[in-house]
Amino acid sequence: MNTAGSPTLSINVFPVEKIRKDFPILALKLKGHSLIYFDNASTTQKPKVVIDAVKKYYEEENANIHRGVHHLSAAVTLAYEKARGTIGKFINAGKEEEVIITKGTTESINLVASSFGKKFISAGDEIIVSEMEHHSNILPWQLLCEEKGAVLKVIPINEKGELILDSYKKLIGPRTKLIAVTHVSNTLGTINPVKEMIAIARGAGEIAVLIDGAQAAPHLQVDVQDLDCDFYCFSSHKLYGPSGVGVLYGKEKWLNAMPPYQAGGGTIKKVTFAKTIYADLPLKFEAGTPPIEGGIGLGVAIRYLEGIGISRIATCEQELLNYATAKLQKIEGLRIIGTSSTKASVLSFVIEGLHPLDIGTILDQVGIAVRTGHHCTQPLMEHFGIPGTVRASFSFYNTFEEIDKLEEGLKKAVRMLS
Ligand code: PLP
Repeated sequence: MNTAGSPTLSINVFPVEKIRKDFPILALKLKGHSLIYFDNASTTQKPKVVIDAVKKYYEEENANIHRGVHHLSAAVTLAYEKARGTIGKFINAGKEEEVIITKGTTESINLVASSFGKKFISAGDEIIVSEMEHHSNILPWQLLCEEKGAVLKVIPINEKGELILDSYKKLIGPRTKLIAVTHVSNTLGTINPVKEMIAIARGAGEIAVLIDGAQAAPHLQVDVQDLDCDFYCFSSHKLYGPSGVGVLYGKEKWLNAMPPYQAGGGTIKKVTFAKTIYADLPLKFEAGTPPIEGGIGLGVAIRYLEGIGISRIATCEQELLNYATAKLQKIEGLRIIGTSSTKASVLSFVIEGLHPLDIGTILDQVGIAVRTGHHCTQPLMEHFGIPGTVRASFSFYNTFEEIDKLEEGLKKAVRMLS
C-alpha cells in the first residue's frame, strides 16, 4: 500500500513513476485536474523518444525514400527499412518482405479484402467473421461479399463475450475461403483463442486466416509464425507510435499471389503502356510516398516498449484491470460488459438508468478521459441490447490511484444523474 491507501504493483520493480515521465502529455492539467487518460484502446500517448524521432526527422533528415541517390534520401531509406526490420522482429515475421507498411489496421484489412478478394473469392464462397468485430473488420468483407456474390458468416458469442467455438467449427465448410477475427476485442477486452482457431481452420483445407491485432499488439507478445496466421494487422497509433501508419503482415505465398492493392510510384519494376511489371515484396503493396516519419517513429516506439519488456507490460496491465474490475463492480447498478476470464486491459460497463455519454461528460469534468458509445461495434451492442458502454482502457503508465479517482468520479456521476 502507498500513502493514499492504494496498492502498489506487486511487480514492484515496475517503475511507473519514472515511466510516466517519458510521456510529456501525462503532466497535463485539464480544468485544474491532472489528466487521467483511460482511452488507450482508442489511441495511446506517445513517449518523448517517439516525439523526438519525428521532430528530428523533419529538422534533420527529411527526404523521400527509395528513389534518391543523395545523402538524405539514402540515409532516410536506411532508417525506414531498419524500422521495417524492427517491426518484423517484434511480431516474429519469417521475412522482412512479409511486413507491409500501411496507413493502419483499417487499410491493412481493406488491402487484403480488395486484393485477396479479387484473386481468390468467387460467387458462393464463404467468409467468416465474428460478432465482436470492429466495423473495420466487418465492412470490407461485407463489400467484398456484395461485389462477388460471396456469403458472410458470423461466429456468435456467449454472454461473457467469448466466441462460441462449437459454432465456429460448424460454420467452416468446403466453401470457406477466409476467416477474419480479432485477437482482442476493443469493446469487451476478450482475448480470443486465435491460435486454436487457426489450427482448426488448418484442418479444414486451404483457408486463409486474417487476425485483427489492433488491440493485441499493444498488450500481448505476438508471434505470427507461432500463430501460423496468414495475415496480421495492427496500427502504430495504438502502439505508442505516430498515427497514419500501420502494418500488414502477410505470408509470402499469399502476398506474391495477390495483385497490387493500389498502383503507383514505388510499386513497379518497369512500366510501359503495353504492360507493367510490378516490384517484389514489400514494395508491390506500398504505392506512393509512404508515411516515412510514421514508419521510423513506429520503429522507435517498438524499441521503447521492448526496453520495458512486453511481458512486464502485460503483467502490469493485468493488475490494473483486476484492480479496476474489483473496485468498479461494487458500484451499485454497474454492469460489466465482457466478463471473459482471459481479457486484455479493457473495461466496458453500463450503469443502470444512466446514459454512457452523461457519465463520460461528468468524468471529463474531473480530467478523466474515457470513451463512450458503441466503439465501432454496433452488432455487439445489439447482442447485449444496449446503445453503448463506458470504456476505460488501461496502459502500463496508468496507476491504481488513477483507478481510485475513476471510482470516485463514477460515484459522483451516479449521485448527480440518478
Ligand atoms: N480493429 C480494432 C479491434 C480496433 O480497435 C480498431 C480501432 O479502434 C481498428 C480495427 C481500426 O484501427 P485504425 O482506426 O487504427 O485503422
